[in-house]
Amino acid sequence: MRFLGLRSVSAMLCALIVLTGSVCITHAEEYYSGTPAKYVFLFIGDGMGIAQKMSTEAVTGEQLVFDDFPVQGITTTQANNRFIVGSAAAATAMSSGQITNIGMIGMSPNGKSVKTIAEMARDNGQKVGIVSSVSIDHATPAAFYAHVPKRSQYHYIDHALAASNFDYFAGGGLKDPKGTRKGIEARGNAVTAIKKAGYKIISNRSGFEKLSKSSGKVLAYNEWLQDSGATPYEIDRRTQDISLAEFTAKGIALLDNPEGFFLMVEGGKIDWACHANDAKAAVMDTVAFNNAVKEAVAFYKKHPNDTLIVVTGDHETGGMTLGFAGTKYESHFNVLDAQTVSFEKFTQEVMEPFKKAAHGKNTFEDIKPQITKYFGLKFEGNPKKDTMVLKPYEVAKLQEAFIQSMAGQLIKNNSPQAAILYGSYDPLVVAVTHTVNNKAGLAWTSFKHTGTPIVTSAIGVGAESFRNNYHQSEIAKKIMAVMGIAPAVSVASK
Ligand SMILES: [Zn+2]
Repeated sequence: MRFLGLRSVSAMLCALIVLTGSVCITHAEEYYSGTPAKYVFLFIGDGMGIAQKMSTEAVTGEQLVFDDFPVQGITTTQANNRFIVGSAAAATAMSSGQITNIGMIGMSPNGKSVKTIAEMARDNGQKVGIVSSVSIDHATPAAFYAHVPKRSQYHYIDHALAASNFDYFAGGGLKDPKGTRKGIEARGNAVTAIKKAGYKIISNRSGFEKLSKSSGKVLAYNEWLQDSGATPYEIDRRTQDISLAEFTAKGIALLDNPEGFFLMVEGGKIDWACHANDAKAAVMDTVAFNNAVKEAVAFYKKHPNDTLIVVTGDHETGGMTLGFAGTKYESHFNVLDAQTVSFEKFTQEVMEPFKKAAHGKNTFEDIKPQITKYFGLKFEGNPKKDTMVLKPYEVAKLQEAFIQSMAGQLIKNNSPQAAILYGSYDPLVVAVTHTVNNKAGLAWTSFKHTGTPIVTSAIGVGAESFRNNYHQSEIAKKIMAVMGIAPAVSVASK
């Protein structure tokens, strides 16, 4: 294996010492110092911890392509002001090297803009692409081109996109182009600004397929945006919907040029599925993410001496684990085979119409066939002979959740216990995914993120510097070094 001199720098951030009270461990940070890579890929599986990866491999029986990369490192994820990070602070750390506060995008804790590796690539005369399965102004993609104190300032982020001069934005849509959200000062329609900046806007498959190098700057999103401007969950994706792998492949084709490029791809709905504790949806979105990485690997094979691919997560979501008290040492991953829709699709297309039509008269009996149809859980039969048959205590759990679902907000808001049981989701839907997951031998501890470390995988130029154990902010600096830029946080000039 090629090993171009690694420079060891013993500089360490003790940012966490105050926060956690733990001992500050000093690592020797390692940066690449050889010939820079021309092509740099950063893949971020949002919410993708080691359990998300392992459950995907267990359910599909297939190894993730990045689990086979020659370099595997451990990445810690804490924010400046909270032990458990959020996507905005995590992505800012990974895009700029700056450890920042929760909710901040491309800014230091004192509100100064920090330059991102995507902006550095642009200023180096390289092309830049940003791809996400969620809205393109969501925290993770935004942290590569926007600088705002609050991640919810989508309108300002949309205008930052227009001003970025990046070459390729693709995946989900925009959340607030008109500036209609509370507390926002409208700056004019961002779509107009994006067009004025020279972007071609594409919102369907036929337009997407026609895109070529002569298209110029592009903003492309999928026609069906399922929830909050995001592309559909992979489990719900129809053939006419553009996959994350297709968005990635098109990005590579459009960005490929002699000066090189930087391409960030986010699998954003792994996180959303895990917030809702829906393992099957998370698994399928991890598969979609893996397929996107495969596109980069194919490119790497053609340009092995000029390419770096880094694959990581920003944090773990849901406190997912492989193992459950009820299944003891057993795992039944095939239980997930029967689930054919995401929690979101089931909520939107089954539960909501069911509740509306009910007028308080629909009973638990009426929803049973839908649970069987979409999740494979059976209300009749012998649970000892068929794993899919519900045990009496499982039926009781679903029945209790059904009462909560039909009661709506009233019970939910008045019951802290309901919040622990169901988060902010439809109680019956959560009870169903929990039951399916537990039968498979999978379990969850939270509807939020957790502080467990992440695995970072790397292949190509400078990959060796991604070994060992480091904070996620080091990912940005390690990438800067591979791009031939001094690895340090840089306050942007504008
Ligand atoms: Zn999240």
